[in-house]
Amino acid sequence: MTTLRFAPSPTGHLHVGNLRTAITNWLYARQSGGQFLLRLDDTDTERSRAEYADAIRRDLAWLGMAADDEVRQSDRTALYEAAFDRLLSAGRIYPAYETPEELDVRRKVLLSRGKPPIYDRAALSLTDEERAALEAEGRRPHWRFRLDDTPIEWSDLIRGPSHLDPAAVSDPVVRRADGTFLYMLPSVVDDIDMGVTHVVRGEDHVTNSGVQVQMFEALGTAPPTFAHQSLLVDQEGGKLSKRLGSLSARQLREQGIEPLALLAYLARLGTSQPVESVADSQALIDSFAFDAFGRAPARFGEDELAQLNAKIVHGLPYEAVSDRLPEAMTAEAWAIIRPNLERLADAADWWSMINSAPVVELSEDDAAYAEAAAESLAAIDGDELWGPLVADLKSRTGRKGRALFQPLRLALTGQQHGPEMAGILALIGKDEALRRLRAAAGQ
Ligand code: GLU
Repeated sequence: MTTLRFAPSPTGHLHVGNLRTAITNWLYARQSGGQFLLRLDDTDTERSRAEYADAIRRDLAWLGMAADDEVRQSDRTALYEAAFDRLLSAGRIYPAYETPEELDVRRKVLLSRGKPPIYDRAALSLTDEERAALEAEGRRPHWRFRLDDTPIEWSDLIRGPSHLDPAAVSDPVVRRADGTFLYMLPSVVDDIDMGVTHVVRGEDHVTNSGVQVQMFEALGTAPPTFAHQSLLVDQEGGKLSKRLGSLSARQLREQGIEPLALLAYLARLGTSQPVESVADSQALIDSFAFDAFGRAPARFGEDELAQLNAKIVHGLPYEAVSDRLPEAMTAEAWAIIRPNLERLADAADWWSMINSAPVVELSEDDAAYAEAAAESLAAIDGDELWGPLVADLKSRTGRKGRALFQPLRLALTGQQHGPEMAGILALIGKDEALRRLRAAAGQ
């Protein structure tokens, strides 16, 4: 079965970049009828927190992307130990004794000679006696995975044919001297154990993928299919500011961004498909295609997201939002107010405007006009109020355009702008509208 995983570290809140990775994984899992798994990369016990893991689950649920299953790396050390032992006996892992300072000096020397700072594998040529001497000094080894020199190639679903020259990278450290594992090997062990078929993540992992291809092979498994998304940049093409880059689902939720808007935005950003309003996430699932992703960085913009959000709010059906609206607000009211909203939460303001009489002061002229409006309205029979009202006022007063409408809006709602007056007047109702017009007229 097609199996994808989203593998955040619970060391902070998910930010827009992580969310985009999660969304891409989820869309493809749903499109292919496969599974979407959550893997919590919590091997860093100092920085990982249960509350962040909870927040990650909450964010995924809010987006409608709750994982089909979940694993935590901190529960799986035995699996990593077993893989480590296998690779050690196969000669693919070796102990190294250099201190960080020693490594740093060597790196600097190489760089100063214009050479790439690749680990020289000095530890591989240590004799047993030399190793014993280092151990006797109290040094404990860390452990490196020995890359072999077969060229590393894979076909990336986004980047196309990809390769890594193993000679261009250092043998990665897979385990620290204190016995803890670094990211690289556990991720491969988990991908094998969880039957992951597609690894979809950011371009910052391309080199890791090349190295991991060799780890999969060393563990006797064909590597999964990889897809690396280009990274997010700002609207000008520059690196995302700290604020934008760390924008979390929670912050966006508090700003009134709908989950569907965030999904629709991040699903299409950096692809050849339009960023557009969709009725539901199924439309995004159906149209998802790795082919559509470009190699160029994807330009993230808060304004663009807010605009898409407004469009999506305008299309939300009453049933989908009724539990987030003021209790007495009807489907009719939602239909009238909806086109005017940027955020769903603002519906409550318009609703209270409809339900409470405004305090307004009109010019003398407009006060007289409001009085005429009250007379006209009083004479109207039937359900349709606004059309007959303005038609009558037009012929009685000779007013047109703004002068005809604006004082009415102001007298009835206390606002200069807002939803269509025909709908607003219907919601306010004839009796209350009469009271408001008379009050505005100073009566
Ligand atoms: N925890 C890693 C990250 O967040 C996972 C990378 C991966 O294997 O997808 O970058």
